[in-house]
Amino acid sequence: MRDNKWVFLFARKKMPQAIEYALLMNSSSPQKVNLLGMDLPHLKAFFTEIGEKPFRAVQVLKWIHQFGVDDFSQMTNVSQSLREHLSEIAEIRAPEIIKEQKASDGTTKWLMRLDGGNSIETVFIPEDNRGTLCISSQVGCALDCGFCSTAKQGFNRNLTSAEIIAQLWVASRLLNERIPKVNENNGQNPQNESRRAVTNVVLMGMGEPLLNFDNVVQAVHLMLEDNAYGLSKRRVTISTAGVVPALKRLREECDVSLALSLHAPNDVIRDTIVPLNKKYPIKELLKACRYYFSGDIKKKQFTIEYVMLAGVNDSVQNARELAALLRRLPCKINLIPFNPFPQSGFSSSKMQTIKQFRDILQRAGYNSMIRKTRGEDIDAACGQLAGKVKDKSRRSS
Ligand code: SAH
Repeated sequence: MRDNKWVFLFARKKMPQAIEYALLMNSSSPQKVNLLGMDLPHLKAFFTEIGEKPFRAVQVLKWIHQFGVDDFSQMTNVSQSLREHLSEIAEIRAPEIIKEQKASDGTTKWLMRLDGGNSIETVFIPEDNRGTLCISSQVGCALDCGFCSTAKQGFNRNLTSAEIIAQLWVASRLLNERIPKVNENNGQNPQNESRRAVTNVVLMGMGEPLLNFDNVVQAVHLMLEDNAYGLSKRRVTISTAGVVPALKRLREECDVSLALSLHAPNDVIRDTIVPLNKKYPIKELLKACRYYFSGDIKKKQFTIEYVMLAGVNDSVQNARELAALLRRLPCKINLIPFNPFPQSGFSSSKMQTIKQFRDILQRAGYNSMIRKTRGEDIDAACGQLAGKVKDKSRRSS
């Protein structure tokens, strides 16, 4: 018990987020520290504070994230006494999956219940040569973009780093188990790499990742960490509506791939559909993007996201204006057919209009493509997450 109190105090001092998590949650053992969301430096600090060598952090990190273990007793290269001690003072705890849905195209969506009663959604999109996990960073969203159903839910709270990384942890555990084993795979022995179901992570689920900066960055560190998921920076993408000061910080702390939700070729249109634009207008935003890719960061392109809304931002003139706006920026442009939801007040541009828009951009020299809508039949497409979550969590409460 004395130990518990000590860890508790340590965590309060050094890891407010971890302890906030432990305290907030209706855990049966609220004094336990959840190790799931700690990146390597945090975990090393934790072990040092409890009088252990920092290398224990690497061992435990591997058990948690590479082997998907949530029970200290299974960590066989850790001494028996330390395992017992850890199970008294710490835990590895992820949100509970309350629903899994699989679409006809193989897209899988999980609804996960967080401590406190809220729910989030996570989507896995399998493709021939990769598997992309779309994860959430907040419960709801404060940005109020008119065409996004998460916005209709309003903002509830930030996810902790444990809740963010838990989405990858849970998905990896479930999906890796489903990959055919050696014998079931015509006797071929696949490389570890190719056996990994999730090869890419995009923070394009619910919420604005850059408004939950510290927790997102800590979770992303785990995604990149060799002793955890070992994903390359190219394979982790943060999608943002454009929080300018946070973009600058991100470049310093964790320069992963970037997707910018631009959606308009000028401030007049963008002000009406992305209210954040009034605070950080397009010129400032693109300057921040240029900075993100400046200097010795030899980045490839970043992605411009552009949702196609009939009669709002989809004219020939808009396409030409967009092409002029983005000149000399190292970007590719993804056109996203609007995914409808009740009472959105918007409708999607016709496919013919979207193709014409794309052709104008391509003729202007851009790599521009139309994003294939995935998981439509289970409401797992861009911007469709959340609305029904709210209803479900209400009903279940
Ligand atoms: N807040 C972040 C990430 C969440 S949304 C951001 O703004 O980038 C992920 C992407 O889906 C964004 O480009 C968003 O604008 C887009 N999106 C939201 N609602 C949509 C809808 N109904 N149809 C198509 N795309 C949508």
